[in-house]
Amino acid sequence: MIDLRQAEQMVYWCADVLDTGELGTVESSMTKVAVSEVLMRVADRCVQVMGGQGVTGDTIDERVFREVRAFRIYDAPTEVHTWSLAKKVKQDWKTAQGE
Ligand SMILES: Cc1cc2nc3c(=O)[nH]c(=O)nc-3n(C[C@H](O)[C@H](O)[C@H](O)COP(=O)(O)OP(=O)(O)OC[C@H]3O[C@@H](n4cnc5c(N)ncnc54)[C@H](O)[C@@H]3O)c2cc1C
Repeated sequence: MIDLRQAEQMVYWCADVLDTGELGTVESSMTKVAVSEVLMRVADRCVQVMGGQGVTGDTIDERVFREVRAFRIYDAPTEVHTWSLAKKVKQDWKTAQGE
């Protein structure tokens, strides 16, 4: 519940930035990473609650888990987004230092 509310808030935050006409690359990257990681955790908990049924057979939780897993990969994997965010933080820090 907390995870989902945090993810929802990040989506609204990102949408607000995009609505201003800004590119929102940092906000989009942060939101993509955070939401896909949250969905993964939530789907994993659902599968765990279902026990063996969660990983065998053609059940809805098994299908959701499989589909949600791909969110961390497409539109660039989590690692690529976090790497580009780190690069941006470093650039901003250098700019602030007058370099
Ligand atoms: C269901 C699905 C739908 C898709 N739809 C589209 C689409 O509509 N349009 C489109 O253009 N593409 C689409 N893709 C492709 C998707 O964008 C790529 O799969 C994604 O960008 C990852 O590229 P890759 O598969 O070549 O993995 P790779 O680039 O080989 O990455 C494999 C893994 O290596 C690691 N890695 C890669 N680069 C770095 C790095 N710089 N730093 C640290 N770790 C790294 C990550 O852990 C990553 O998961 C889709 C993929 C899937 C699975």
